[in-house]
Amino acid sequence: MRERVWLQGCPDYGPVGLFERLDQAFEALGVYDSLKPGMTVVLKPNLIMASKPEEAVITHPALTAAVGKCVQKAGAKALIAESPGGPYTPALMKRHYAACGYQAMAEELGLALYTDCKSREVSLPQGERCRRASVIEPLLDAEYLINLPKLKTHGMVGYSGAVKNLFGAVPGLQKPELHCRFPEKEDFSHMLVDICAFLKPDLSVLDGIWAMEGNGPTGGSRREMGLLAASASPYALDLCGSALIGSGPERIAMLRLAGERGLGPGSLDEVELLGDPIEDYAAKDFLPAKASSTDFIDRLPAFLRPAAKKLATPYPKIDGKACVGCGRCAQSCPQHTIQITGGKARIDLKKCIRCFCCHEMCPKHVVKVRRLGIFDL
Ligand code: SF4
Ligand code: SF4
Repeated sequence: MRERVWLQGCPDYGPVGLFERLDQAFEALGVYDSLKPGMTVVLKPNLIMASKPEEAVITHPALTAAVGKCVQKAGAKALIAESPGGPYTPALMKRHYAACGYQAMAEELGLALYTDCKSREVSLPQGERCRRASVIEPLLDAEYLINLPKLKTHGMVGYSGAVKNLFGAVPGLQKPELHCRFPEKEDFSHMLVDICAFLKPDLSVLDGIWAMEGNGPTGGSRREMGLLAASASPYALDLCGSALIGSGPERIAMLRLAGERGLGPGSLDEVELLGDPIEDYAAKDFLPAKASSTDFIDRLPAFLRPAAKKLATPYPKIDGKACVGCGRCAQSCPQHTIQITGGKARIDLKKCIRCFCCHEMCPKHVVKVRRLGIFDL
């Protein structure tokens, strides 16, 4: 059976329009048939860092609110749970929800926010690379799990959508440890698929109203795409999401691997689209993340590729003048290769594995992605 993806235009985050469209998505995908009164439904947005909704870094609280209202319509209870980068503690989590506009939204609608910050280590039987990982408790105990990714570029893996959003299931500072265990893009992508295959979200809803292009997932620019998409298959949803930004499994390793492992469709031909055609919303000029745009190397003659790869491999560079010395980059660095001296961060590139966690987590967006010479376009 072909995986189904529901796609529809939605120009803004107005609560009425959002609820009406998501209500249709729940009907079209049979979600209401699965939700039971009293059931606890966990909503997992992307709240990677404290950021205002208009910056297009996080899943917009209005979208999470509308999904919560659909859950309430079915008589079920919604619990919002996330683990951003940095230390995972109840006090920080409460501040984080407030900074992202989630506390006010949850209070208004009577949705619960998870702040206990507990996790358990679990085995991932389907894991190709990662067989054990810590996962935050509500995602393990959810009776029904709704994944709420944001449509964004990603410096390391190229694209951030449904599969990548579930990396947030790993508590706080254990994420850099996984970066350290899987420094290569292929292995890291396998690990992302391992976590997604374990968690098996029941539904994923993509926030593509305001997407992020360029230096995603936190330092890029807002791109108004005006769309919502949803599917029971995170892999099918990501095939559509990546096509919307002019990419696909040939460039996004996690999508190719999910297809090869038989977890999801290998191409859009294997997806049944409900609602609007992808072409109506696809952006041909969507800016990719700089760190991931090395596809041209594969098109060079073989003898030139090793040198080109060396020159073109991006590296992080801190704008010393603008750095405020907060230490978030050092905290998130799996290699512990960033020191704060004299109120400024400095990177020892010899030990750097180019995971770009520092780039992702810098609240001032002063960790730049650079390449040598002519490759620094
Ligand atoms: S996170 Fe950014 S601002 Fe903070 S110390 Fe690192 S580079 Fe400087
Ligand atoms: S310096 Fe930045 S890119 Fe390098 S290992 Fe540390 S977090 Fe990753």
